Amino acid sequence: MDQEKQYDAIIIGSGINALVAGAVMSIAGWQVLICERNDKPGGAIRTEQATLPGFTHEMLSSWHPLFVGGPAYAFLKDELDKRGLVYKNTEAPTGVICDDGSAILFTDSEKTSGEFARLSDKASWENMMGEFTPKLDLAFGLLGADLWHASSLKLARVARKRFGTRGLIATGAELLEPAQPWLDRQFKSPVSKALLAPWALHNGMGPDDAGSAFITKVISAAIAFGGMPVPIGGGVVLVDALISIIKDNAGDLLTNADVVKILIDKKKASGVELADGRTFMSQKAVLASTTPQVLYQKLLENNLVPAEIKSAANNFRYGRAAVQIHLALSEPPIWKNDPRMKDVAVVHVLDGVGSLSESVNAANRGYLPARPTIVVGQPCVVDPSRAPEGKSIIWIQLQENPQVIKGDLANEISKGDGSWSQEVLNSYADRILDQLGDQITNLKSATLAKIVLGPREIEAMNINLVGGDPYSGDCRIDQFAPWRPLTTATGHRTPVKKLWHIGASTHPGPGLGGGSGFIVAQKLTKKSLLRKILQK
Ligand SMILES: Cc1cc2nc3c(=O)[nH]c(=O)nc-3n(C[C@H](O)[C@H](O)[C@H](O)COP(=O)(O)OP(=O)(O)OC[C@H]3O[C@@H](n4cnc5c(N)ncnc54)[C@H](O)[C@@H]3O)c2cc1C
Repeated sequence: MDQEKQYDAIIIGSGINALVAGAVMSIAGWQVLICERNDKPGGAIRTEQATLPGFTHEMLSSWHPLFVGGPAYAFLKDELDKRGLVYKNTEAPTGVICDDGSAILFTDSEKTSGEFARLSDKASWENMMGEFTPKLDLAFGLLGADLWHASSLKLARVARKRFGTRGLIATGAELLEPAQPWLDRQFKSPVSKALLAPWALHNGMGPDDAGSAFITKVISAAIAFGGMPVPIGGGVVLVDALISIIKDNAGDLLTNADVVKILIDKKKASGVELADGRTFMSQKAVLASTTPQVLYQKLLENNLVPAEIKSAANNFRYGRAAVQIHLALSEPPIWKNDPRMKDVAVVHVLDGVGSLSESVNAANRGYLPARPTIVVGQPCVVDPSRAPEGKSIIWIQLQENPQVIKGDLANEISKGDGSWSQEVLNSYADRILDQLGDQITNLKSATLAKIVLGPREIEAMNINLVGGDPYSGDCRIDQFAPWRPLTTATGHRTPVKKLWHIGASTHPGPGLGGGSGFIVAQKLTKKSLLRKILQK
C-alpha cells in the first residue's frame, strides 16, 4: 500500500457503518482508505463455512431487515445490485413457542390477524398497528436521523403539528414506557405478549426497561412490513459489494491494520498510525468506528480530549454478553408443538414474558438464567443455499448472559472464577440444547457439527464487542439517541476537527442499518455529491 497516497478520508474499522460510509464517500468521488485490524473485513458480519464444507454460517450477525429497510440501502441499492447482492425474504419472519402455545407473525396482514384472532387478540393487534403505523415515519425518523442537524427540528415540528403540544408530551411518555405494562394493557393472551416481547432483546433491552415498549412496537411493525431479509450467500456478499464500490473509486482496504494513533496537524485529524509503524494521511476526514474508550483513551493524545469528554467516555457502559451456538444438521428441524415453525426465520423459545423478565434481570445481576430466551434462527428457510440440499443449519443466539458470572439461577453450574471458562460455556450450551431439544425433536440426532461462541470468543473476533456485548454499549435509554455515544450529547462530532465517531457505540446504535456511517458520510459529502449530480 502506498504510504505517500493522500486519501480524502481514512476510516478506522470495516464494520457495516465504516463500509457504508466508505461507499457513500466513494460515490461522491472521495478516495477512501479503510484500515481493519482483523485479517478480514466486515466486523460483526462474518460468514464462514465453519462447521463442515457446504454449511454457510453467519458466525455473528445474520438478519438484515435494518439494512434493507433503511436509508443506506435505498441510497446504495443500484451500485450493490450491479455487484451481485441479492436479498431474499420470507413471509414468516418470526414466531414464538412458549408455555401457553405458539404463534407466527406474517408479512401478510390477514394471516397475522388470523393468528391473533386465534389468541382472541385480533382487535388488540389491529388497534396497535392502527395507532402506531401513522407514527412510523416519526419513529424511524427519530431512530435514523442526524439528531444534531437542523432537519431534526423539522421532525419535531411535524410531530408537534400532528399531535399538538399536549399530544407531543404524551408521546414522550409513550416513548419511555417499558414493554411489560404496555403488553399487559394491550393484549389478553400470554402467547401474543411472548410473540412480541423478546424483540426488545434485539435492541439490547429487557421488557422492564424504559423505552422497551416503543422499541418492541417499532421492531414488530418493521418485521410485519419488511419481513426478515438475508443476502443470498450470506452477509459476506454485502461486505464484498461495499468494498468493491470503494475500490472501484480508487479507494483501498487494508487488513491486519491496527490503528494505534490518530495523527493531528494544526489541531485537525490528518491521518493514522498503525501498530507496525506505518502512517497514512487524509485530507478531509478521519472516521473512527471504535468504542468511545478506544477513541478517547487510546487513539487520541490525552491533551486533545476535554475533561468532560474524557469523563463521559470513561463512564460509557457495556451491556449483557452474547452467546452463539451454530449447528450443522443432517435434515431440517422438526418442531414438536407447532410444525409450522419449520418455515419461520427467527423463532423465540421461552416460557413467557415472566421468564424473559427474570432472565434479563438475572443476567443484569450476574446470574446465568435458568430458562433463557432461546433465539432460534433458521437461515435456510430464507436462503436454502446456506446448506447442502436436504440438510440445514441453526443459528442460536442467547442475549441474557452476564459478562461476569456471580452464580447460576438454576444452581447447576459452578461459577468458578466468574469468567466464561470453556467448562462454564459448555455446561451452559448443554442447558440450552437440552431445553431446545424439548421443542425440536430431532435436534440431537440430526446434529452433525456444533460451534459454541462465548463472550470471550465473540470479543476476540471483534474488539468493539467489549465483554461479548453484541451491541458495543448498553442500549438503555441513558445511553441512547442524544446520549449515544456520550452523555455530553456531542453526536458524531469529536473535540478534534475533521475527526468523526461512527459505529454501533454511536447514534442510532447497533444493528446492520449502517446508520451512523450513512449520516456522517452524507454530512461530509453533500457538496461533492451535488457537484457530481450537476456535472452529469
Ligand atoms: C452475535 C451478534 C449477532 C448479531 N445479530 C444481528 C442481526 O442478526 N441483525 C442485526 O441487524 N444486527 C445484529 N447484530 C448487531 C450488529 O451486527 C452490529 O451492531 C453491527 O454489525 C456493528 O457494526 P459497526 O459498524 O459498529 O462495526 P463492527 O461490526 O463492530 O466492526 C468494527 C470493526 O472495527 C475494527 N476496529 C476496531 N478498532 C480498530 C482499530 N483501532 N484499528 C483497526 N480496526 C479497528 C474491528 O476489528 C471491527 O472489525 C449482532 C451482533 C452480534 C455480535
